[in-house]
Amino acid sequence: MAINLGIEKPIELTEAQEKGWMKRLIKRAQEIGDKGEVPVCALILDSHGRSIGYGSNSREKGRDPLGHAELIAIRQASRIKGDWRLNDCTLIVTLEPCQMCTGAIIQARVGQVIYGAKDKKRGGLGGAINLATHQSAHHKMKIKGGLMEREIKDLLESWFKQRRTLSRGRKEAQNQIF
Ligand SMILES: [Zn+2]
Repeated sequence: MAINLGIEKPIELTEAQEKGWMKRLIKRAQEIGDKGEVPVCALILDSHGRSIGYGSNSREKGRDPLGHAELIAIRQASRIKGDWRLNDCTLIVTLEPCQMCTGAIIQARVGQVIYGAKDKKRGGLGGAINLATHQSAHHKMKIKGGLMEREIKDLLESWFKQRRTLSRGRKEAQNQIF
């Protein structure tokens, strides 16, 4: 196992490469959305651009409040790398990470974060609060947000709309029974 001396840097991706990964994540997000999970997916690339971690939101399936895509991807990448430090890694995620995940990203020393849609309600990278520039942040990382934001917002909005319609339908069905 190579010892990470902190020399290797996160990969620099072209815009086409970033979009290529993001498109794959959006497709996966659609698939898990159809299964009832909030459609958010994440992956981690090592310094050579190899995917070493993947996670999709699995709160419902796992009945786990910690089942966020980023946390699952970070855990997998650390296992594969054999190191909890991910300084030379890039995390790509469809939605701006929440405060919990941003905390984990900082703890894992992730070198670069690329995210899709901004999250004004819960985003931890400036949407609601910016933990990356907070005085408690001991780790600097490269951050890029807003990649393919329109597509991802559309996906999330239609998913939430569909869920609301479904739950209204269930309530109406219940009213008919009782
Ligand atoms: Zn999260």
